[in-house]
Amino acid sequence: MKAETISIGTELLLGQILDTNAVWIAERLSEVGVDLYFRTTVGDNVGRIVNAITHALTRADVIITTGGLGPTVDDMTREAVARATNRDLVLDEDLLAQIRGLFAKWGRTMSENNVRQAYIPRNAAPVENPVGTAPCFIVETEGKYVISLPGVPREMKYLMETRVLPWLREQTGGEWIILSKTLRTCSVGESQVDALIADLETSSNPTVGLLAHPGQTDVRVTAKAHTRAEAEALIQEMETQVRARLGDAIYGEGDETVEEVVARALAAKNWRIAIAETNTAGKIAERLRARPEGARIKAAMLLDNVTELTEANAATIAQQFRNVTSADVAVAVLGTTNSAQDMYSEDTGQSVIAVATKDETLTRHYAIGGISDQSQTWIIIRALDLVRRAAFKQ
Ligand code: AMP
Ligand code: MG
Repeated sequence: MKAETISIGTELLLGQILDTNAVWIAERLSEVGVDLYFRTTVGDNVGRIVNAITHALTRADVIITTGGLGPTVDDMTREAVARATNRDLVLDEDLLAQIRGLFAKWGRTMSENNVRQAYIPRNAAPVENPVGTAPCFIVETEGKYVISLPGVPREMKYLMETRVLPWLREQTGGEWIILSKTLRTCSVGESQVDALIADLETSSNPTVGLLAHPGQTDVRVTAKAHTRAEAEALIQEMETQVRARLGDAIYGEGDETVEEVVARALAAKNWRIAIAETNTAGKIAERLRARPEGARIKAAMLLDNVTELTEANAATIAQQFRNVTSADVAVAVLGTTNSAQDMYSEDTGQSVIAVATKDETLTRHYAIGGISDQSQTWIIIRALDLVRRAAFKQ
């Protein structure tokens, strides 16, 4: 079964509020195994809403609209659904009585424009909304369904949970589930990850997709199956292949951050770490300190005026800092600290990273420096990743 969502509201297009309804509904639909191939956002304009619904009816079985069901003149969903499904609006006496009842219960006078909310497309099935005043309805047209829900997230969620999802589950026989798992990589670029698993990305079940963040790339594996166990098995099989290709570039799963994995590794090994930073301005230490795993920071220092940005110099500083602090592992980050430098500018600056343990010193050089947020994030993640690699080696 294919669904499509239409979020209605000019405030969404003006960027004044986030379309959280569409995100929430998308997640719920995948849980009941309903495919969502398109999502539309449209303003409070009846012609354009009609257009969006008409278009959606050509490619989906169920269309879920949110918003535009209020009592005001700019709430046009009722009118648009009626037009898109070739029918007029009729007054539903039961809905009107419910709305009147709510106002009576609240001890408020109902204004005449609330009557507008009791008009629904002819032959629509009204859906009672006990958590708000905006009544909802379902229109069946040529074997397809248009479900109109309120824009207020609390009301929309309630109606989805109690009415729409159970109904969808029934329609799909309750038999499908869509599950996703995210494998997180860092220190390798999105294009490198893509090159390594390009053939896997063409798979249709599970699907494999990439999502890039500053300094890291996620690999999402999504499977559709009749049972959770089957979906998990499909994901597991694909995960094995992805892991074989990407190896230790994968540092974690789900929401795990690099500092979380590093903090856990340090705590498990009972390693104390010493951290020397230049252009990352103490943020590596800050991130580790904020973790609840209890990584022990033996010493942290900020270095100024480091002119020799070489891997050899970073290695020497890391080794010496480790020795004088008697830490188990030390990391040194030396980078250009020019504030104007941004990782996307022409002159990107330089950074060198070294991680020293009792057995070895790992070093890296990157053509990225400066103290812009992006370059700091990038370097912080790479430095933490190098600590992770050193920790997992021993
Ligand atoms: P409406 O039903 O269009 O009158 O919307 C009522 C309120 O719900 C709006 O003022 C927004 O604050 C909120 N809202 C509407 N649509 C969305 C959406 N897609 N995502 C999040 N909030 C929304
Ligand atoms: Mg609105």
